[in-house]
Amino acid sequence: MKIENIKDIDLNRLTRKSYGDDANLEQRVADILKRVREDGEEAVYQLTEEFDHNNLRLSGLRVSEEEIQGAYQDVSKDFLEAMRTAKRNILRYHEKQKRTSWLEPDPDGSILGQLLLPLKRVGIYVPGGTASYPSSVLMNALPAVVAGVKEIVMVSPPRADGTLLPEVLVAAAEAGVTEVYKVGGAQGIGVLAFGTETISPVDKITGPGNIYVTLAKKQVFGIVDIDMLAGPSEILILVDETGRPEELAADLLSQAEHDRLASAILVSPSRPLLEQTLLEVERQLKDLPRAEIARASWESYGAAILVSDLQEGMDLANKIAPEHFELVVEDPYSWLGQVRNVGAVFLGRYSPEPVGDYFAGPNHVLPTGGTARFYSPLNVDTFMKKVSVIGYSEAALKRDAKQIALLARSEGLEAHARAVEVRFKEKFEERER
Ligand code: NAD
Repeated sequence: MKIENIKDIDLNRLTRKSYGDDANLEQRVADILKRVREDGEEAVYQLTEEFDHNNLRLSGLRVSEEEIQGAYQDVSKDFLEAMRTAKRNILRYHEKQKRTSWLEPDPDGSILGQLLLPLKRVGIYVPGGTASYPSSVLMNALPAVVAGVKEIVMVSPPRADGTLLPEVLVAAAEAGVTEVYKVGGAQGIGVLAFGTETISPVDKITGPGNIYVTLAKKQVFGIVDIDMLAGPSEILILVDETGRPEELAADLLSQAEHDRLASAILVSPSRPLLEQTLLEVERQLKDLPRAEIARASWESYGAAILVSDLQEGMDLANKIAPEHFELVVEDPYSWLGQVRNVGAVFLGRYSPEPVGDYFAGPNHVLPTGGTARFYSPLNVDTFMKKVSVIGYSEAALKRDAKQIALLARSEGLEAHARAVEVRFKEKFEERER
C-alpha cells in the first residue's frame, strides 16, 4: 500500500460504501422474502437447506429452553464471567439513556405531554455466517430490556451441525431474549417481519448482518420498523507523531478482519509514522488467523493518508463519517468539540476500538457507510415509541377556538373548524337563555 496525499485521494472510494445498489441481489432478496411470506415455514426449511446446508425439519426452528440451559455446560467459567461484566457495563450505560413520559400542566388547566412506551415485540438479528457474535446479542437485546420490551425474539443462522454457538445461546439467556430461532439471512428477516404458522411477527428488527440481511431489512421497512442499514465495518484513526505503529496497525486490522468489504483508514500529518505503520500492518498480517479476509479488506478499502495538520485530518474524518473514529493524539479531549459525523469516538491510546466492541458499555451497533451523518448508535430510544398527549381545558379551547378554526378554514377543512366551534355554540346558547 502507498501513502496517499489528501490532495490526491478519491473520496468516493472511501465514503458512502454501503450495501444496496445491486439490482440482481435486490431481486433475489425480494424472491426469498416472497417465498417466506407465501409459504411460511416450509419455505424457511427449504431456504435453510439451500443456503445453510441444514435440514431442520426434525429439530424445528425454535431453540428449546433445555438446549439453552445445556449450552451453559459448553462455555467456560471465564467466558461467563467476562460476559456478565460486559452485561453490567452495557446495562449501566444504557440505563442513563432512559427517558420517561412527561405531562406538563398549564395554568389554564390544560395538560400537554408525551408518553414514552416500549415496543411490544422486537426481533434481533445476530450474524452467524463467517463468525459468531455473542457480543451482538448483548448489544441488541440489553437496550431493549432497558426500554422495557417484553418479547425479544432472536434469529441467527444455524452452524453446519444445525445448532447455534453455545456462547450465543448463553448470551441470549443472560441478556433476556425470550425466543430463539435458527434461521439466518434474508429468510430470517422474513420470519421476523411476516411471522409464520408458529412465530408471531415483530414490530421492529435491529442488528447487523451481511448484504442479504441488510437488503431484506430495507425491503421489509414499513411493514416493520428497522434500526438502520448497517454495512461493512469501518475505522478511521487520526494520529499525531505520538502514535505507536504496532498499536495503530493492530487497531486497523481489528476492523479489517471483520469482512473483505470492511475499511480501515489511517490519517496523520506524520509521514514517518504512516510509513512505519504500513510496515507493521504487513508484519502483523503474517500470523493473523483471519489474514486472508483482513488482507483483502486492507488492500481494497484500506488507506494511509497524509494531511498537512490535524485540523485537516479532523475535517476529513467528519466528511468520511466513519463508524469508529480513534483519536490517538496528545490531547484528544481538546478535539472532542469538533467531532461530528462518526458512530463512536475513542479517545487516546488506551481506548482501542475493541474496548467499545465488547466491554465499556456504549453500543457496538453503529452507523456505517457515511450514515453517521444522520444515524445514531443503537440505543434505548431505538426500542421505544412516543404518544402525544393533549388535554385541553374549556378555558384553553375558548381562548384558542377562533384561531384554530381560522387555520382549519385556510386549508379548506370546514368540518375541522366546526368541530371546535360547536362546543361553544351550545354553551353560548345556554347562557343566552
Ligand atoms: P450473516 O448471518 O449476516 O449471514 C449469513 C446468512 O446469509 C446465511 O445464513 C445465509 O442464509 C445467507 N446467505 C449467504 N449466502 C447467500 C446467498 N448466496 N444467497 C442468499 N442468502 C445467502 O453472517 P455473515 O455473512 O458472516 O455477515 C456478518 C456481517 O455482519 C459482516 O459484514 C460483519 O462485518 C457484520 N457485523 C457487524 C457488526 C456491527 O456491529 N456493525 C457486528 C457483527 C457483525
